Amino acid sequence: MLYKEPAPIKDRENPFESMMSRFNIAAEILGLDEEVYNVLKTPTRQVIVNVPVTMDDGKVRVFEGYRVIHSTILGPSKGGIRFAPDVFLDEVKALAAWMTWKCAVVDIPYGGAKGGVICDPFSMSAGEMERLTRAYTQALVDTFGPDQDIPAPDMGTGPREMAWLMDEYSRMKGSTIHAVVTGKPLVLGGSLGRVEATGRGVMVSAMAAMDKLGMDPAKSTAVIQGFGNVGAWAAKLMAERGVKILGISDVSGAYWNDNGIDIEEAIEYKNNNKGRLEGYKNAEKISNDELLISKVDVLVPAAVEDVITIKNVDQIQARLIVEGANGPTSYKADNIINEKGIMVVPDILANSGGVTVSYFEWVQNRMGFKWTLDRVNERAERIMNESFERVYAASQKYNVPMRIAAYIVAIDKVAMTYKYRGGF
Ligand code: NAD
Repeated sequence: MLYKEPAPIKDRENPFESMMSRFNIAAEILGLDEEVYNVLKTPTRQVIVNVPVTMDDGKVRVFEGYRVIHSTILGPSKGGIRFAPDVFLDEVKALAAWMTWKCAVVDIPYGGAKGGVICDPFSMSAGEMERLTRAYTQALVDTFGPDQDIPAPDMGTGPREMAWLMDEYSRMKGSTIHAVVTGKPLVLGGSLGRVEATGRGVMVSAMAAMDKLGMDPAKSTAVIQGFGNVGAWAAKLMAERGVKILGISDVSGAYWNDNGIDIEEAIEYKNNNKGRLEGYKNAEKISNDELLISKVDVLVPAAVEDVITIKNVDQIQARLIVEGANGPTSYKADNIINEKGIMVVPDILANSGGVTVSYFEWVQNRMGFKWTLDRVNERAERIMNESFERVYAASQKYNVPMRIAAYIVAIDKVAMTYKYRGGF
């Protein structure tokens, strides 16, 4: 098969440039000196591997994979592994940097990393996925490590792949090392509360922001784009706090009910329908585009990147956007959102509940002691609330939107740590 250079993505901003645009604004406000700027703008390490894997038909295919370590200034690097046909190095670089800022915002002692393998997990058998995961782990055995670089699931990977990764790494090292990876199945050292952690953090962020805006959750309405792990949990937990969820959506389209969607029922429907809302009856079907611009108080994008762009930002009616997904708002839409006075709880804050509980998983693995669900939720909620307050205070102090404030908090922390640790 001929190697095809990935085509440039049209109508989509380069994720690395998009991240850097925000980074540059925050760096300028902070007056970051040139040395630290240069250290933080480039990843520490970028590893490209090509791993041969025997496919079910007996032929060997070579898969290209990446692991980018953006920074280890705050501690061992942390970040997921994405298995997707269109994953590319610049995307992995951006996601790795986002992890650095995310960990710094929530004040956990990790740097940032991300991994990716160009493959189509949906067309691969379980055996092929296992061989690929194990081959990728072997190729990166010197990069990964509980004190070096700790992977986790991302798009196209989940607890199953993390179990294989942990097993392969442990075999190579000759002892069981749970803490090398997070997002594992519960029986293999996973943490209680990890599955719902990101959605829970989105809910906590939404409640904190509504409080600042003087909005009463019981009198507010919301729509959630994406009804997967993050979106469904965020919807359920927000509904439990009285928010009326008027619309939800997934790849099959969007579903609207003037009286509010019964979220428990929608989740049950999805679980019995191969994880999709397709055919959901107790609502009117609308398009995903209509959902985003509908008249509600809170918009939660919890699906994919670049859904709020210059094409639709003018029509957005929500007062508050809480970013469950990574990078749902394009850089070019930021200014218009700010002009419209919409508050955005940015991704690096709003969806950091996931990495926070991943950190708890790592801590529990290292202690060899399991926490109760209440302890996990209580501590995660405290961290989310404290982080929100830190970012909110920075937004007041520097008179900037929450997104830039989050970058300021993160870059300031990493830069200060770098100054203490020193370069060469
Ligand atoms: P998921 O695969 O469980 O769910 C994704 C959902 O989005 C699905 O319902 C899918 O049908 C829907 N979707 C996909 N494309 C869509 C489109 N174009 N329009 C509308 N809906 C669409 O994924 P997830 O784990 O819920 O992750 C969602 C987002 O949150 C991603 O950006 C991910 O990077 C981010 N995130 C996830 C976590 C986590 O812990 N799962 C942590 C931090 C950030």
